[in-house]
Amino acid sequence: MTGEPRVTGEPRIAVVGGGMAGARFAERYGALGGPGTVTVYGAEARAPYNRVLLAEVLAGRYDAESIALPLGGAQARPGCEVVALDVDARTLGLADGRVEPWDELVLATGSNPVLPPVRGLRRPDGYGLIEGVHTLRTLDDCARLAEEAVDAKRAVVIGGGVLGVSAARALAALGVRTEIVHQGPHLIDRQLDHEAAAVLRERLLALGVECYPGNRARAVHAGMGAPSAGGWERVAAVELANGYRLDCDLVVLACGTRPRTALAYAAGLPVATGVLVDDRLATAAPRVSAIGDCAEHRGTVHGLAGPAWEMADVLARRLSGADPDARYPGTRPRARLSTGDLEYAAFGTVDETLDPGLDVLRITDATRGSYKKLVLRGDRLVGAILLGDLATVDALAGAWESDGPLDGHPLHLITRGVTR
Ligand SMILES: Cc1cc2nc3c(=O)[nH]c(=O)nc-3n(C[C@H](O)[C@H](O)[C@H](O)COP(=O)(O)OP(=O)(O)OC[C@H]3O[C@@H](n4cnc5c(N)ncnc54)[C@H](O)[C@@H]3O)c2cc1C
Repeated sequence: MTGEPRVTGEPRIAVVGGGMAGARFAERYGALGGPGTVTVYGAEARAPYNRVLLAEVLAGRYDAESIALPLGGAQARPGCEVVALDVDARTLGLADGRVEPWDELVLATGSNPVLPPVRGLRRPDGYGLIEGVHTLRTLDDCARLAEEAVDAKRAVVIGGGVLGVSAARALAALGVRTEIVHQGPHLIDRQLDHEAAAVLRERLLALGVECYPGNRARAVHAGMGAPSAGGWERVAAVELANGYRLDCDLVVLACGTRPRTALAYAAGLPVATGVLVDDRLATAAPRVSAIGDCAEHRGTVHGLAGPAWEMADVLARRLSGADPDARYPGTRPRARLSTGDLEYAAFGTVDETLDPGLDVLRITDATRGSYKKLVLRGDRLVGAILLGDLATVDALAGAWESDGPLDGHPLHLITRGVTR
């Protein structure tokens, strides 16, 4: 990595990717009074929006306009896909052939949905997915899914992580009978323990969503699609590895994401899973940084909005000159889902079996559909899961982040939060 001097004067800052990280960077850079101009190039036809709220848009709780993100004084260029980068000449090429110069470049290209190895997903001509099979990553995906949900009777969501659960909840809210097929041992297994997942499963059932954890989808079967839609085959069922068949007319793929790195890789930047960055969020090329889902920092690609915004904040402080030495130390794992009447939060170490020195305090309230678990080392909180009742979440997260000794009995933390 080189230690090039900062660009002075009126730098032209190009942000590639008008998503959550790119928009946050532009807004913070403007708020900090950073010099020059910021242009946000976005491949999507819309100006940046809060992607975390897409399932809420699908469920009809928000409209597309209300989830727009502020950009400060930056210029948004939606519908402008960047197809080439020259990090020596400091130019970028747009899909329409134009070439534009920059002095600082911020890569914020996000990630793409992963297509699982399930037979029958693709159209016979090899282009795209068969009718009725969807991913949920953009507002366009959301609009297509909402349109088809109007006539759908049964949906299958493949993948029972945060995205799969939110999508299933939204489809059920639209009146579609929905089933989740999840390969992992229980729902949201990266963040929840078995007990929390069991409570979540009961709550989903009450909301009209059936879950099949420990089951792998192995094939999608099609019938003939509507002639108006070109006559392509349309999904009719999902077949599980145990041979069981779930009839459906809609499928949502929620099997994780992969960083969008092709542009950076083609420009010669080092890429592992994501675009490699140091603590300054700088790539190996002078004046090129990367933030958000596309960036890999200290071996980690987060794929979450919280870390994407933290990276954007650090980079805005560094590039604006507000704090030229700003460094990103990484983000401690913290997740929160809030969709309609279904909410949970999880942070820190939630698996006490990893360390014999950890204690656990747990309350399960099946009647009210809530579950609370604190993981403690001595008088310090090292992790927690809250499901169904998040009244004490801010106090608990504060106690966890401060890493200090707790006041009072930990039972109070579960029932009333922290008193300090
Ligand atoms: C339905 C849904 C629910 C989610 N829920 C949560 C949640 O509850 N909690 C959480 O922490 N995270 C959640 N996430 C993940 C979160 O949205 C992402 O971590 C976050 O959006 C990452 O921001 P980003 O800017 O890096 O990427 P994105 O927001 O994906 O933005 C990247 C943008 O760059 C554009 N782009 C890519 N390549 C180019 C190019 N060459 N030229 C121009 N533009 C380009 C893309 O079109 C895209 O608009 C959810 C995601 C989805 C889809």
